[in-house]
Amino acid sequence: MEAVGQDLTQVAPNRRVLLLPHCLRPSETCLGKYTKEGLQCPEDCLEKCVIHRFRQEALRLGYAGVCVAAGGAMALRFVKQHQPRGIVAVACAQELALGVEGVKQMSQEGLDPAIIIIPLHKDGCIDTEVDAQEVLRTINLMPK
Ligand code: SF4
Repeated sequence: MEAVGQDLTQVAPNRRVLLLPHCLRPSETCLGKYTKEGLQCPEDCLEKCVIHRFRQEALRLGYAGVCVAAGGAMALRFVKQHQPRGIVAVACAQELALGVEGVKQMSQEGLDPAIIIIPLHKDGCIDTEVDAQEVLRTINLMPK
């Protein structure tokens, strides 16, 4: 887990966004459709995959948005649109490096969010995996 910038616990949930990589979806069964805003899940998907769990938890807590991004550029566009004060992101090593660079650039532009990045523990661009408990714990970090 890598933390950049401010302290996430000082940021109210409604000023945070959650960024997830689309490669976490179960590629054989996923019914999601790609749009300019990322992977969109149909209401009738019964899969209850980790993307579903993480999104539901973030929205239950009042997060301002969740983006299931097909790449770092899409995630950064989402961040620029929402201007969050806090970001929880799951990423592979390559996207992590790009994301950290992007956030450093944002801080030069006056936007300086707290960011916590949780790395994938199984990489490879398809059917990747992450420590779900760690992601849920991080999403739930609250103001002290
Ligand atoms: S809930 Fe999971 S499996 Fe279903 S559409 Fe969304 S990402 Fe795909």
